[in-house]
Order: sequence, then C-alpha cells, then structure tokens
Amino acid sequence: MRIVLTGFRGTGKTTVGGIVADRLGIPFLDTDQLIEERAGMKIPAIFRDKGEAAFREMERQAIASLPGDGIVVSAGGGAVLDPGNVAHLRRGSLVFLLGASEGTVISRIGGSDRPPLTGRPLSEEVRELLRARRPAYLRAADFCISTSGKSPEEVGSEVMRVFRDGPASPDSRTRGERFIGDLPLDGRDRKALSSILHGAGDSPRGICGITGYPCSHSRSPALWNQLFSRYGLPYFYTSFEWPAIEEVIRAARDLGVRGLSVTIPFKEEVMGCMDEVDEDARAIGAVNTVVQCGGVLKGFNTDWLGVRAPLEDLRGARAAVLGAGGAAAAAVYALLSLEMEVTILARTVEKADRLASRFGCRAGPLSSFGKLSPQVVVNATPVGMLANRSSLLAEEDLGEGMTVFDLVYTPPETPLLSLARRAGCRVIPGTEMFIHQACEQFMHVTGVRVPEALIRELV
Ligand code: NAP
Repeated sequence: MRIVLTGFRGTGKTTVGGIVADRLGIPFLDTDQLIEERAGMKIPAIFRDKGEAAFREMERQAIASLPGDGIVVSAGGGAVLDPGNVAHLRRGSLVFLLGASEGTVISRIGGSDRPPLTGRPLSEEVRELLRARRPAYLRAADFCISTSGKSPEEVGSEVMRVFRDGPASPDSRTRGERFIGDLPLDGRDRKALSSILHGAGDSPRGICGITGYPCSHSRSPALWNQLFSRYGLPYFYTSFEWPAIEEVIRAARDLGVRGLSVTIPFKEEVMGCMDEVDEDARAIGAVNTVVQCGGVLKGFNTDWLGVRAPLEDLRGARAAVLGAGGAAAAAVYALLSLEMEVTILARTVEKADRLASRFGCRAGPLSSFGKLSPQVVVNATPVGMLANRSSLLAEEDLGEGMTVFDLVYTPPETPLLSLARRAGCRVIPGTEMFIHQACEQFMHVTGVRVPEALIRELV
C-alpha cells in the first residue's frame, strides 16, 4: 500500500510526507523534487524556459513511474487536475488531501520563488485556484485532513491514525457495524465489510455502495467492484437496502462511507440529509450520487449527464419528454442544456405543468404527441419495463429523422424501441443512460475517468 499526499502549495505535503515516511520506516518521494532531478533544473526555471505544458508532461511521466508499493508520495499541487495522474496516484494507494484555509496558504507560501500560475497578485491567485481545484482535489482523495492551526507533527499523527484505523472513531464504527448487521446482505458482503472494519491484511480499506428500497437487484455492485479491481482502488461496493434514507446516511457517516449511488425512492429525500448539494442536482431537485470527504457529505446528480451524452449531436432540436417524475426532470434539464425546445407530455397533466413551469418549457397530455412532430423523444416513464411491456406511442407516431431514447433499461430492447426501429428512427436504449451516468458517478467518487467502452463491456 502507498500513502499519497495531495493538496495546494503550502499545505505541508513535503514536510508531513517526510514525517509519515520516517514513522513507517519507508521511503518518501516528492514528485516536484523528482521532476527537478530529472530535468536538472528548478521548477521556476522549467516554467520560465519550457512553459507550463512541458512541466505538466514531466509531471505525468514522473507520476507514472512511481514505485507501486511501500512508499509515501507527495504529489504536486496541480497534479490531480489530470484524471490520468489520478488513476496512477490512486492505484494501490490511500490518498490524503491536506487542506488549509486561504489565509494559512498565503502566510505559508508568501515569499516563495515559485512562479505565479495566473499572473495575478498572490492572494487573488490562491483564492481562485483553491476554488477551481477543490472539486478535483475532493474527487481524488480518500481522506481530507485540515492542516490549519496544526503543526506538521500533528498532521503526520492524524495521517498515521487514519492509515491504521480508518476515518471512523471506535464508537461510530460500533454503531455502523450494528446497522450493517441489520442489512439484508449475503455472506460474501458481510465478510468483506467485516474485514474492512477490522483492518484485516490486504483487504480493501473503504466502503462504497448503492442505497434504495429495494436495490438488491441492482447491477451496480458487480460493476463497481470490477472497476475497483481494474484500477487498483482499495474499496468494496455493497448494497444498503433499507427503508429509511436518514438511517442509511447516519450509518454512512459513522462508517466513513466514501460514495453512495442513490436510487428510487430516495433521490429527492436524500437532499435534505446532505451538507452540500451541487448546483445541477439542486436545479433538478434530486441527488443520485453522494460523496464523503473529511466528514462532509456532498450530493450530485449524474442522471442528467447520462441523458445528455448520447444526444449531444442534436443541439437545438425539438424534443418531447414522456413522463413528469424524477427521470423526466433530469431529462428536461439535460435537453435544455443542449438548447432544445422541450415539451413535457404526461398522463397527469398537472405534474407535467408543474415541471414545465420549473424549467420554463411547454407541457401537455400524452394525446398531443401527434401535433408536436418532435425530432427527439425521451421516454421517462416505466412503461416498457418487464412488468409493463407496452409502449405509450404507436408505430405511426414515429418516423425517419426521429431519435427515440427509452430510459427504461430492463429489458434493453423495449416495445417502444422495437416500434421506433421499424419506423426507421435512430434508437438509444436506456443502458446508454446507465453507462454514461455510471462513468460520471465513478469520476465523482474516485477522480478516475473510466472509458465508456469499458463500462459497456462490463455491464
Ligand atoms: P417516477 O418519479 O415514479 O415517475 C414516473 C413517471 O411515469 C410519472 O410521470 C408517471 O405518471 C409516469 N407513468 C407511470 N406509469 C405510467 C403509465 N402507465 N402511463 C403513462 N405514464 C406513466 O419514476 P422515475 O424515477 O422518473 O423513473 C422513470 C423510469 O425511468 C424508471 O422506471 C426507469 O425505467 C427509468 N430510469 C432509467 C435510468 C437509467 O439509468 N437508464 C435511470 C433512472 C430512471 P403519474 O405521475 O401519472 O403516475
């Protein structure tokens, strides 16, 4: 296992890294020092003579060449902005983000010979870069430790404690274990979770999972556990199937759960349990992804990105969304972000009206579909699922030049898609939404960008 320290300049990565390496009796490597040694020149001179792009390339090479085990690494302040670097740094590692307030950073780095990255005064540059880099820092980290007001020795002790015992205190771990005891899990999951909580051998060190009621049928655990092993990430993904979301979130805090996928019926209710909600999720009114770092839980929505990605080439099209529930809200948000002209059609017209007035688009009954001649149709109702194998539209409603996206993904070929195919439409199955949203969710939780083709192969 490696320990990797990330964070902005002035957060003490090099000093703390040296302290932790000494205490563990293993070597310490600083990627900035490695770059300077290989280039035979100091970083300010590399920036001055070769430019930032050349420095970033040297940084990529240095990070890719780091030993895979038994080492403490301090990664340069901007390294984790590159998802390729994150994949290398995270492999077989525990990543600690060392944080500090703006004032602390400025007082620590004032007078350094490092070149400014933006050409602006130091305080403005620090404020702007801390804000811009925060999402990437949080995604790439397993644990966040604040260094403000602490000595490097104190921070080093905190890193050692979390490395040895995990982020949870013994009391909260006991509470979390009690909750896990009540979950309907199989023997394999119980064993994996128990070895994580008791730090057995080389077992994974952290927990992720899906929560919903029900959710034990989900394909997410199989997918995520394959991805974790592919990318060498020390996590185990399980299923938190439980009827009360606030109890799941309490347990997630107690156990230091890193990431949760949230599914029906909790996507709206879970927002009230978050410390922060990102602005897309707030606009949609639903969270399907929770990420925890440093005891702070933040909610995101990746469903809308799953609808948006396969339709990106249809910017400005005329679109009809069938349904007015949670998936429809994500779909409408996605289509509007592509500047489409959107009409929401639903069985309960008042719901369609309410959703349309939130987003400033049009609404109507399902029977008005014929008058719209849309170029894009998105089915955001459960009609077409295994238990409801029918279609809200007939073959004569559909025609060439239309793209039909059915968000239902069990079965992959729904009655609507079969009719659309026969009518000469371009069809997009619901598995595409699942694949794209899973890619974005994995990125939020780990900072690693997985190619869609890999997820397509694994699901
Ligand atoms: P939801 O909040 O319960 O909303 C369902 C919507 O469908 C409501 O507008 C509902 O209308 C309408 N509806 C239900 N049965 C209908 C019927 N027989 N005829 C006409 N309209 C009907 O559910 P949701 O969270 O939006 O999910 C909808 C579907 O999206 C799910 O079933 C799932 O298949 C799909 N989905 C796929 C993915 C993916 O990754 N591919 C992700 C999320 C969701 P009323 O209000 O009148 O009941």
